[in-house]
Amino acid sequence: MGNLRTALYAYLITKHEGGDFILRIEDTDQERLVEGATEVIYATLRKCGLNWDEGPDLGGPVGPYIQTQRRDLYAKYAQLLLDTGHAYRCFCTKERLDALHNENGLGGYDGHCRTLSQKEIGEKLSAGVPYVIRQKIPREGHTTFHDVVFGDITVENATLDDQVLIKSDGLPTYNFANVVDDHLMGITHVVRGSEYLSSAPKYNLLYEAFGWEVPTYIHCSPVMRDAHNKMSKRKGDPSYEDLIAMGYLSEAVVNYVTLLGWSPRGEYAEREFFTLAELAEIFDIGGISKSPAIFDIEKLTYFNAHYLREMSPEAFHAAALPYIRQAVQNPALSTEEIAGLLQARCERLTDIPEKLDFFDALPDYDAGLFTNKKSKTNPEVSRRMLEAVLPALEGLADWTVDGIHDALIGLAESLEVKNATLMWPVRIAAAGKAVTPGGAVEICHILGKDECLRRLRLGLDKLGG
Ligand code: ZN
Repeated sequence: MGNLRTALYAYLITKHEGGDFILRIEDTDQERLVEGATEVIYATLRKCGLNWDEGPDLGGPVGPYIQTQRRDLYAKYAQLLLDTGHAYRCFCTKERLDALHNENGLGGYDGHCRTLSQKEIGEKLSAGVPYVIRQKIPREGHTTFHDVVFGDITVENATLDDQVLIKSDGLPTYNFANVVDDHLMGITHVVRGSEYLSSAPKYNLLYEAFGWEVPTYIHCSPVMRDAHNKMSKRKGDPSYEDLIAMGYLSEAVVNYVTLLGWSPRGEYAEREFFTLAELAEIFDIGGISKSPAIFDIEKLTYFNAHYLREMSPEAFHAAALPYIRQAVQNPALSTEEIAGLLQARCERLTDIPEKLDFFDALPDYDAGLFTNKKSKTNPEVSRRMLEAVLPALEGLADWTVDGIHDALIGLAESLEVKNATLMWPVRIAAAGKAVTPGGAVEICHILGKDECLRRLRLGLDKLGG
């Protein structure tokens, strides 16, 4: 969820400023590559409507857009830092580094190779000793960097680690690759999680060493599961794909997730519902909050219900159809009409099947359902109602919603009972359950005349009629 939000903010800032949204695949950490992860990124961005202007599939002026294909570039810029004394080769063995880690417990490098002579370096290189390239951080002074959300942050250089820039496999670290690429690709705004705040001063020193302009930094506080824990897919919190599988609409997720840590201001301050295009129009970086936001599935459900209601009947039918089909197989029943009953009554698409479980087959229900205080019904009243309804509907030539409605309302009038007193037993007999989407008239219509009358007769039998 945090990653999706980061992508959203990057997209919205870009589009608000009229810029180009670039998709870059960061795959230099070969140990952490996950099979299929890139496909998920593509699919999620597309489904959310975050269409990129340049990327691996589209190409563009600053490609390639996959970091492992830019390998030679990083080597070139690392060499530049070596030449200017802003980086150095470290030949330390893994054993030495592990021992160091255990000693000081922090994993900080002790600078052992900072002062190797040219002669020593030459010998190790010709002997083929593997090495990494580290950033040579000044031991004195301090570094200040600016973040749009967190303001100016100053740290003592002595507290910064001589981080690795190029690994022994020749590939850059995440930090180095991003500084180089952000500059070469003309990235103006860097949006990322606040867990990267601590590495930002080292970025600044790299930009300084290269003599490059520092981009605008926007660090976002995490998306939390509760007051104390970050959301985490590994710990079972839902990902975007999970939410879609749970019956949430992409538009609702995008709208809700944008508001996790960002608030519209001014004339839009009180508004909750925005399309992606509207968000791009009004998104201002100043509305991003420093406080962590808590992901609330109930709130997302509320957004989702709104988006379901706002769909056109055709679009809702298309979205609902797979879920309707999980419960309703009978080809004689109109799925359009069923969708019409559901649209105002469901919060998630996955709510649909259980609401429709009475259409294909009448459930085995208890006659106690015919008793309802509010509708003033009991078994005796219900039996009388069904006895009157059956001949009225049997004789009805016009089996339309209006036709059924008028027949039943007219009958209630002539029997001098409340409409509800007549409708309740009809709906119970037709559906066999107390809670249904839609009323008696709609359900009777969808079932069709024969099936409806069959069910009403069964209801009457149940009541001893
Ligand atoms: Zn070393």
